Amino acid sequence: MAHDKPTPKPGETFRCEACGRDSIAKAQKIMDGWRCLGESVVCAFCKAPVAPPVPAGDAAAKPAADTTAARDRLASFLGTAPVAAPEFRDKRKGHFCKDCKHYFKHPFYSRCLLHEKPVEPMDDCADFTPRPPDSGEAPTGSSSGPQPPRR
Ligand SMILES: [Zn+2]
Repeated sequence: MAHDKPTPKPGETFRCEACGRDSIAKAQKIMDGWRCLGESVVCAFCKAPVAPPVPAGDAAAKPAADTTAARDRLASFLGTAPVAAPEFRDKRKGHFCKDCKHYFKHPFYSRCLLHEKPVEPMDDCADFTPRPPDSGEAPTGSSSGPQPPRR
């Protein structure tokens, strides 16, 4: 029960007490309907919380440079959150990160090469690009790390 050890930050490895594995901490939004209440850190395997949740007030204190971008980010969170937004979900159906050409599968976690951040296979994204069916599972070409986005 005692929280007497350092809290893992998202992306850091740690030993999960809930499932007993060497895991990776993962940021998870706490949603209340359409509103983001805050963010907590959970085990990537068993989703057990590993840190006390941080209220959204922290993030809201930062100046929002672009409200449209903020709305897009919110929208992609909503796609994975258990909220009653059927119209929205229908519209985004099939835009899962796992089907995106920017999706990179890693043994421990999955990554978006476009946004250079960890993603869930069932996340969806405003920048979703369908993976060409013929390219198969194997990424073509270089193994020299993430490519810069070409736009
Ligand atoms: Zn765990």
